[in-house]
Amino acid sequence: MALLGQSVDELTAWVSAQGQPSYRGQQLYQWLYHKGVRSLAEITVFPKRWREHLEGVEVGRSQIRHHHWSSDGTLKLLLGLADGETIETVGIPIGDRLTVCVSSQVGCPMACDFCATGKGGYRRNLAPHEILDQVLTIQSEMQRRVSHVVFMGMGEPLLNLEAVLKAITCLNRDIGIGQRHITLSTVGIPQQLQRLASYELQITLAVSLHAPNQELRQQLIPSARHYPLSQLIADCRTYVQQTGRRITFEYTVLSGVNDRPHHAHELAALLRGFQSHVNLIPYNPITEAHYQRPSGRHLQDFLMQLQDLGVAASIRRSRGLDREAACGQLRQAQLVAHP
Ligand code: SAH
Repeated sequence: MALLGQSVDELTAWVSAQGQPSYRGQQLYQWLYHKGVRSLAEITVFPKRWREHLEGVEVGRSQIRHHHWSSDGTLKLLLGLADGETIETVGIPIGDRLTVCVSSQVGCPMACDFCATGKGGYRRNLAPHEILDQVLTIQSEMQRRVSHVVFMGMGEPLLNLEAVLKAITCLNRDIGIGQRHITLSTVGIPQQLQRLASYELQITLAVSLHAPNQELRQQLIPSARHYPLSQLIADCRTYVQQTGRRITFEYTVLSGVNDRPHHAHELAALLRGFQSHVNLIPYNPITEAHYQRPSGRHLQDFLMQLQDLGVAASIRRSRGLDREAACGQLRQAQLVAHP
């Protein structure tokens, strides 16, 4: 098992089992989480002979395969995992914040029609250390502390809830990121919202809605066929009652598809009386789909219609989207170049 993701007590038990004094557990903890070592051989406070002995121990760090800096300061990384799979992670600096957009799976089984990751198929779940590594890697490459984490990279986090919860615990306890600075984004998986609510976390939940009615939603999100919109919204309302936390709805705006005046009316009716916020995300064109990005003016009109109907909404600016750096596309480009 990788060392990354373990608590100070677990690390202390581990060093003790190696016949070392227990204070070395605290040292290991500091070097893993705060100095971000990639191998135990780098821990210079450990005796040289022990370090040589530890060389092959799995810390749980990835290898950086590709860097892509965007003109707005966003860093997108392609990371190579121990079994050769690759994932994307993105560091987004905005003012004094540094947000990391982490992946929770290699690929994604949800197959949303406008999503590059969904078009690429699914490989496997990530382990907790593979999620944590993304945050530590962005932190060291951008040379500043990460303040926020969003599970909006590749994958569906509620299909990997156990590992995601472990990673959240560790981000909070060991890396020092407040739960209120962590957002989990999901398309909605039956029964999993209830499960998530039962942990009573302070994190923010974002639900990918993308359509105001069942028919359109299941066209865009195939898995929605097994989770009716009415049930999803009912589960969201229960989640808010149970946790006292507000929900954000994400709505990727596809020109002419889900941004007509009647869509605004349907959405307002769907969310009436529901304390929530709608984030409009202009569609980010991908090569595998034929949707159109809405114009700035059109997006603004749709926003105004929603606001006039009493829906709390705002537009989310996409960042780091020049060339192949949009969601899922860096990995896709690499797979095409080096299959
Ligand atoms: N599986 C989770 C998290 C992954 S993606 C979920 O679906 O919520 C994070 C957000 O980006 C989702 O709302 C997703 O629908 C959106 N997204 C994916 N591809 C996009 C694209 N090409 N343009 C705009 N938004 C996109």
